[in-house]
Amino acid sequence: MTTRFSEWTKKLGQQHFSMDGSSETLCGQAMLGNNYARYLYEEDKTPCPDCAQKKEFIEGSEIIMESMLENERQESIDTVLNDPLVKTLTGF
Ligand SMILES: [Zn+2]
Repeated sequence: MTTRFSEWTKKLGQQHFSMDGSSETLCGQAMLGNNYARYLYEEDKTPCPDCAQKKEFIEGSEIIMESMLENERQESIDTVLNDPLVKTLTGF
């Protein structure tokens, strides 16, 4: 599961991000007014450092979580495969 972010850019090019379904930006601003994310050129946008940092942090921790879950899954498979009863039953 990966969090999707929506870009929310103000008229003057201040670029924020919000998590999908949230009514606030990552830096805690209410998303009032129009979203110019699609209408402004990338070079005219100024990323909000707070949003950029939080977005990076959330994305980073999700990658760590996913690899942890993957390890856990592998460990449970190993546990099951090494179980003496399973070994007897399957003939390994
Ligand atoms: Zn922001």
